[in-house]
Order: sequence, then structure tokens, then C-alpha cells
Amino acid sequence: MSLNLLPDPEFGPPRGTDSAVIRFPGKAVPRLHLSPPHLAGGEMEALRETLDSGWVAPAGPMLPAFEAAVSRATGFSHVAAVASGTAALHLGYRVLDLAPGDEVWTSTLTFVATIAPAVQMGATPRFLDVDPGSWTMDPNVLRTALQAAAARGRLPRMVVPVDLYGQCADLEPIVAACDRWGVPVMSDSAEALGALHRGRQAGAGARLAVFSFNGNKIITAGGGGVLCSEDEHLVARARFLGSQAKETAAHYQHETTGYSYGLSSVLAAVGLAQLSALDSRVSARRAIFQRYVTGLHDLPGLTFMPEPAWGRSTRWLSVIMIDPHGFGAEREAVRRALELIGIESRPVWKPLHLQPAFRGASLFGNAGVATSLFERGLCLPSGSGMEPAQQARVIEAIRGCWRG
Ligand SMILES: *Cc1c(COP(=O)(O)O)cnc(C)c1O
Repeated sequence: MSLNLLPDPEFGPPRGTDSAVIRFPGKAVPRLHLSPPHLAGGEMEALRETLDSGWVAPAGPMLPAFEAAVSRATGFSHVAAVASGTAALHLGYRVLDLAPGDEVWTSTLTFVATIAPAVQMGATPRFLDVDPGSWTMDPNVLRTALQAAAARGRLPRMVVPVDLYGQCADLEPIVAACDRWGVPVMSDSAEALGALHRGRQAGAGARLAVFSFNGNKIITAGGGGVLCSEDEHLVARARFLGSQAKETAAHYQHETTGYSYGLSSVLAAVGLAQLSALDSRVSARRAIFQRYVTGLHDLPGLTFMPEPAWGRSTRWLSVIMIDPHGFGAEREAVRRALELIGIESRPVWKPLHLQPAFRGASLFGNAGVATSLFERGLCLPSGSGMEPAQQARVIEAIRGCWRG
């Protein structure tokens, strides 16, 4: 039996299928993906145990075991496992009582899932520019914006900083600025399991934090997410809403409506086995980043995503910046050159204020930093299972684009 955890071709098609292979005349080279799942070894045993036990539904002993392991890995006392990171964010918005017309402030440089559930609930998004030293929400922009909002008498319902590509947002000043006005913080830490900020784990200090176990993240359950907090009641409420808001009664009593967001025990088993490898996955991703630095640092016009002194990134994705003047080629030319030889790379997230879906949403800061990162940034293959020889091909191809 071969184990197949790959939900989306973006993250790497199943082993042995044709789409995993780029055919050149006379030879076949496996396509190199951005961040495919990397099995830890214990998945099959955990799966067999789960199937043997009969607990395959979103119930049974595997779920609390997975939640306890997430609690150890993140430092959060209370954890609710759900079907995806997006579902966890949705529940976070619900338990903080987000209502139609409320404002939610988030970093403009992120994946759409950060804000999508809030917009679907009728909230108004507002986007903040990022700090060039971390590429995450700029606490100074936030402080100024909160002051102005308080003066207008219209504070946001919540602020959602985003950890980017394995790097934490600077939560300490962000939470301090929000505390001053009583605004709760939910950290979208989907990309940063295993990262640190000021010596604390990703999300620590926020009222709520969300992690994702999607197929492309550093640790995957094949799909899944968690909502974490130090507040037991918020997590209990999320659990309740995520399992159809059933009141305690035999006859299906509902005071409100919820969602079917349970995580299957089958996936929890995979996630549990994967979590045991977290430390080695972080080391591997950081080593991959270092190899890119060694192989590319001498090229004029090419720079790397910075790591601020207060943080320790997991380098979930290795990201480079290409300045066409110094480098002699555009970011897109490099991306296409890699694509041509079967290497996947991706532009940095398109800032949300530029997305047609959020046309008209207002902005704090001029978003010059995020916009420039989008124009020049390129995410490179960063999977912890990538072989040095595969990475050497990426490095060689990028060097081949340089026209100094
Ligand atoms: C992956 C991701 C999510 C969504 O997680 P899913 O488990 O895919 O729903 C949310 N926010 C960010 C920043 C992400 O990278």
C-alpha cells in the first residue's frame, strides 16, 4: 500500500504519476515543487493504529493526542483541532464575536485565507503595510493607525498579524499597541509552526493563534488546522461551533448555528506522527536557506528575506528578491526560466489591497514595502526533503539568469 498525502498538484503530485515528471527529449527529470509533504516515518503506524481502533470520525483518542502534541509544540495551553487553518481562522472570528460592519485589520502581505472568513461574515477589511526588516505587520504603522481610529471613535474589532514564510510578526509591540485600546489580537501563524519571536513561540502573547497542517506547510496532517489560546473558554466555544453548535440535549437543540469543521482522526494520526519531526524539519529548512545564501550571495541585485534580530524564522520558504537593475533580469524571467526546467517557484504573496476581491479596501501606510516585495520577491523550492543535488540545479539555473 502506498501512502498518498498530497491534496493539490501545487504541493506536489502523488509519487509515480506522470504529472510528477517533466519530459525532455531522451530523459525525464522529476518536477521540483515549492514545498511538498515530507513523511516522518511514523505515519503508517499511526494510521494503522487509528484504523484498527475504528475511530476514524472526528472523535476518539487520536484527536486529544494530536491536540496535546500541538500544545507541546506551540506552548499554548488550549488547542482545538479542526479541518483546516482557514476553518480555525473562521472560528476565531466567530468566538471573538465579529459582526457585520466591524473592521478587521491585517497585514496586506498574506494569503487570502487570513481575511476571507471575516469578509464572508460581513466585516470590512483594512490592510497595513509591512516592516521591511521582517516583512510582517509594522507595529509603528499599527500604533499610528490605532491612535487615529480611536480619535475617530471607530476601533477595529480585532487585529490579525500574520507570520510570513516561517517568520513571526513582532507580536510584543503589536499586542501592546492593541492592549492600549482593548483590541484583541488573533495571530495567523499558519506558516510559522516552530518559529520564535523574542524567545517566545509563534503566536505567543496573542489572544488566539492559528496554525495550518495543509499539505504544503512545514508539518502536515494532509489537511487540518488548530485554534490555540490561553483562554479555555474561547477554545471550548470554538470546539462547540465547529461541531454544529449542538446543545446538550438528545433531540438536537440549537441556540445558534455552527459548522462541520471536525478533523478526522485519520488525519490527526498523520499530524501526530509528523509533529515528532518538527525540530529536524526546522533545521532542514534553515540549512536549505543557508545553501541558497552560499550559492547565490555573490550575485549583484539578488538579496534574501531578512531575519530580524528579535526573531528566529523556520525558513518555511526561502525567498529571494531580484532587483532587475542590478541583476540584469526581471523576477518573472527567473521564474519562467526555472519553470522551463521543471522547477516550481512563486512570486511573493500578491498584497491583498491589490486583489480585485478587496477593491476599495483602505490601507494604512502607503503599502510601498509590500508592493515592492511582491514585484521582486520569489519563493524558491524549500521542501525539507529536497536533496542538495536538486537544490544545486535551482542555484545553477538562477545563476544562469544573471546578466550583470
Ligand atoms: C496556509 C495558510 C492559511 C490557511 O490554512 P489552510 O489549512 O490551508 O486552510 C491561512 N493563512 C496563511 C498565512 C497560510 O499560509
